[in-house]
Amino acid sequence: KFVPRRAHKNEAVQVVVRCRPLNDKEIAAGYSCVVECFPSRGAIDIFNPNAKDPRENKKSFTYDAVYGWNSTQDDIYEETVRSLVSSVLDGFNGTIFAYGQTGTGKTYTMEGCRTDPSQKGIIPKSFEQIFSHISRSSNVQYLVRTSYLEIYQEEIRDLLNKDQTKKYELRENSDVGVYVKDISSFVCKSVKEIDQVMYIGNQNRKIGATNMNEHSSRSHAIFMITIEMSGIGGKKVIRVGKLNLVDLAGSERQSKTGATGERLKEASKINLSLSALGNVISALVISSGKAPHVPYRDSKLTRILQDSLGGNSKTIMVANIGPASYNYDESLTTLRYANRAK
Ligand code: ADP
Ligand code: MG
Repeated sequence: KFVPRRAHKNEAVQVVVRCRPLNDKEIAAGYSCVVECFPSRGAIDIFNPNAKDPRENKKSFTYDAVYGWNSTQDDIYEETVRSLVSSVLDGFNGTIFAYGQTGTGKTYTMEGCRTDPSQKGIIPKSFEQIFSHISRSSNVQYLVRTSYLEIYQEEIRDLLNKDQTKKYELRENSDVGVYVKDISSFVCKSVKEIDQVMYIGNQNRKIGATNMNEHSSRSHAIFMITIEMSGIGGKKVIRVGKLNLVDLAGSERQSKTGATGERLKEASKINLSLSALGNVISALVISSGKAPHVPYRDSKLTRILQDSLGGNSKTIMVANIGPASYNYDESLTTLRYANRAK
């Protein structure tokens, strides 16, 4: 039988901020850096570049952790992520979100750089942690299954199905809670196999999109790993842990870009699910333990993740920002969103 465990209250929701370095283009264009990070005290300052004296016009924020431009993929994984994945291997549910404006490092943080092993992101590192844990366990048997889906304009697509035109429905029943009807799920027995599943999903995602960059900035990608643990012989399931790895749609304001018609409709749906997510996380943080009203039903994203947000689950939100002066408004908006989430 499934044995629920209680996560430590203060650890249930963690909000961290990561600021990427200025890139070559930004340096060449002479943009100044308007962000200063203080990782040792989890603090960040942002300076208003339009002020007469930007250094005098700063806003300061603190989070559970702050990762500056010289932080490594390892820093984030070891300090913030590893313990969440450990608790999934103990039968908790866990969700990790990458939030932020397009171009600030969400995909870099989640996936990293495929061709450079030293820059692996959270997703491939979690694969390694899961299968190395499994290989070291002798009296528990594990079954790892994965699904990979996308939410685009409040419609669900299965990234592991070749047919990217098929739409999927959410269902709910008292046994399993909320689930996506007919979504594919693959059993994986090694890092290599699960990595291949992610690769195929990423390829399918590209096939469905006419403009990959634009598409990925407007859709949420959710990589779901379900880990069933059972006694030797696999007769009865002891525990189930679920890990959701979410690369969110870009948080930038779409209205400024002069969007009309279809684009505007799309934009308002993106903003809807991101603001629904912010509302859910802040409701969870405020209520810390009491039975609150958590508005899961307001978006597909929060409904799909309902059983992994709140209760005994752990959540990490990585809010990504860029340091350049021209990103000041969006960076400030992201810092405020992350601040409200906590
Ligand atoms: P997003 O997914 O938020 O749109 P990306 O992850 O694609 O952003 O990042 C945009 C670019 O910045 C990529 O070329 C990426 O490699 C680079 N980048 C992002 N974060 C970092 C970082 N912390 N260090 C070095 N390069 C980064
Ligand atoms: Mg991306």
